Amino acid sequence: MVLERGEVANSWRRERWDSLRLLTPNWQSRLPGRRYDGPDPDGYMTAGEVTELIERFATVSRAPVRTGVNVTSVRRTDAGYHVTTSCGEIRCRAVVIASGACNLPVVPQFREAVPAPVEQLTPFDYRDPAKLPDGGVLVVGASATGVQLAAELQQSGRPVTLSVGEHVRLPRTYRGRDVLWWMDASGVWDQRHDEVEDLTRARRLPSPQLVGTPERTTLDLNALTSMGVELVGRWAAVRDGRALFSGGLRNMFSLADLKMRRLLDTFDEWARMHGRDAEVGPAERIAPTRVPESARLQLDLRGGEIRAVVWATGFRPDYRWLDVPVVDAKGQLRHEGGVVDGPGLYALGLPVLRRRKSTFIYGIEDDAREVIDHLTQYLAVRR
Ligand SMILES: Cc1cc2nc3c(=O)[nH]c(=O)nc-3n(C[C@H](O)[C@H](O)[C@H](O)COP(=O)(O)OP(=O)(O)OC[C@H]3O[C@@H](n4cnc5c(N)ncnc54)[C@H](O)[C@@H]3O)c2cc1C
Repeated sequence: MVLERGEVANSWRRERWDSLRLLTPNWQSRLPGRRYDGPDPDGYMTAGEVTELIERFATVSRAPVRTGVNVTSVRRTDAGYHVTTSCGEIRCRAVVIASGACNLPVVPQFREAVPAPVEQLTPFDYRDPAKLPDGGVLVVGASATGVQLAAELQQSGRPVTLSVGEHVRLPRTYRGRDVLWWMDASGVWDQRHDEVEDLTRARRLPSPQLVGTPERTTLDLNALTSMGVELVGRWAAVRDGRALFSGGLRNMFSLADLKMRRLLDTFDEWARMHGRDAEVGPAERIAPTRVPESARLQLDLRGGEIRAVVWATGFRPDYRWLDVPVVDAKGQLRHEGGVVDGPGLYALGLPVLRRRKSTFIYGIEDDAREVIDHLTQYLAVRR
């Protein structure tokens, strides 16, 4: 049985802001046995459309879902697991943890030192710009969420300052194709967890600076500065009501540009080696990220310039309900390709679980097949 504390597709109903569209194109939003067959394969679904997609899949596949059942504890027993839920107790031989990788927003401790008149929001609280007070907004984090919210807030007429830490820069399209087409076709997203050089790092990589818009716009830092967004370094601390930012934007930008260039070179090499050059556009050079002439190193949060802070500093899973010692000191599940460090315990939907594409909707199918193979063998042996 599948236990869900809310409704089917709960995270897409409750935990996304209004304007969010997938950053993966429609042709990539596939679930087992269901390919996109609508009129706009290169478009990007709204959160509402994703909800419908998952709902339809649950109905057609007759997934044995029990909604409104919150799992509050999972304990190991001699025969398997004892699961306590808001609707009673369950005994089972195996458990698949598919509770998501993004249950809680990650916010640094120093948020407590932000002066009170400044409103603070996470992406879970944010719905649209009208929810924020008028005036300046400090968006913290320049990955997919941060760049999207910074653009939306700036376009709403609020002056936005964006605090930029480590980030992954990508153009929306490259040589006429969606950059995620390149990731898919060249095999980058199929790279397996046991082939990745530094798996811990790969699992912690921030999401790419991408947005899904009908115009297929690139939303990198150059696009944001052209809109009028001010860039500052990583937010390091709050002292006497002032936000202190790290220097070194130039180095951070060079590193992100270098990594992007390397990836695009990999795509060029793949197209050449596989005789695909004729079906894509000519190779492109992408301008380096422009470094601000003098980025501010501090900002007085008491002066009224900043009325709200939006923490786009990432998400983490929540395993407070898991009473099995399989979570490490950093709050991450200990597992090998989704086989958790506990007999009969499995996971799906975590970053680079078995492949680079593991956390994406279309990445789960291949992982699920292999994880479930392992699970059925486990049950067969025990039987
Ligand atoms: C802001 C954002 C943007 C994203 N954009 C994209 C994108 O463009 N393309 C893409 O492919 N992917 C995207 N993703 C990743 C996306 O979330 C996943 O692809 C997909 O939703 C993962 O599905 P999941 O079922 O593994 O996890 P989730 O969607 O998180 O579902 C987990 C479910 O478990 C339930 N649950 C959790 N704990 C319990 C409990 N104790 N008891 C009962 N139920 C519980 C939750 O209610 C939830 O419904 C994005 C994620 C975020 C956060």
